[in-house]
Amino acid sequence: MGLLTNRVERSGIKPGDHIYTYRAVFAYSHHGIFVGGSKVVHFTRVDTSSSSDFEVYSPTAECPTFPDCGFRQPRSGVVLSCLDCFLRSGSLYCFEYGVSPSVFMAKVRGGTCTTAASDPTDAVVHRAMYLLQNGFGNYDVFQNNCEDFALYCKTGLLTIERVGVGRSGQASSMIGAPLAALLSSPLKLLVPSPVGVAAVTAGMYCMSRYATDIGVRTDVIKVDVEDLAENLGLETTEEVAAENVVSDRQLIR
Ligand SMILES: [Zn+2]
Repeated sequence: MGLLTNRVERSGIKPGDHIYTYRAVFAYSHHGIFVGGSKVVHFTRVDTSSSSDFEVYSPTAECPTFPDCGFRQPRSGVVLSCLDCFLRSGSLYCFEYGVSPSVFMAKVRGGTCTTAASDPTDAVVHRAMYLLQNGFGNYDVFQNNCEDFALYCKTGLLTIERVGVGRSGQASSMIGAPLAALLSSPLKLLVPSPVGVAAVTAGMYCMSRYATDIGVRTDVIKVDVEDLAENLGLETTEEVAAENVVSDRQLIR
């Protein structure tokens, strides 16, 4: 993978990889965990009442390849899709873990890498499959998005602060967008010493993005996936859960 793009071929990913693709001509990225057998576990928003830009779960036409493609628990936004349905017609990218701070700072877009280290493949796939069965809370309540979901599966890390902005790289990129627009507009010519100001502001933007990276944040904790479902308080009764259990092996084919 190069410095400027994380684009990979399908043959280049392995189970436990955090993958993503761009939707709507780079308007936003959608993330998931590749669990093997051409399947991806990803987090979508079930509730359609909010005006968020993030992915909304929409059962599309029958998947021609896999009958269980699109599997999810009732009211859960965690969905199992085949790679084709996940990507739609987009390109495949692989999210990088354990990058050095200098590489992190050099990345143009937020939400493509982290300085945090990935856990072993087994742990990552286990978390993804467990959350598929037990849910990952409501998209809006905890400001969870698909990137947070994938980051959690990879690292087991969650931010303690659940309210506020800038939890993930994607969110902070959005905050950075008006700033980027300002820097490229003719307005900057009115600012004394535009070059110096632009450089300082861009530097501050990089620093703030770095400060929100889960690899360097101090307010993150490691949470077991078995505890997480409880913490997020998804209302599933024992009976409902038991009724809907589908073995992992059945789903990853
Ligand atoms: Zn499919």
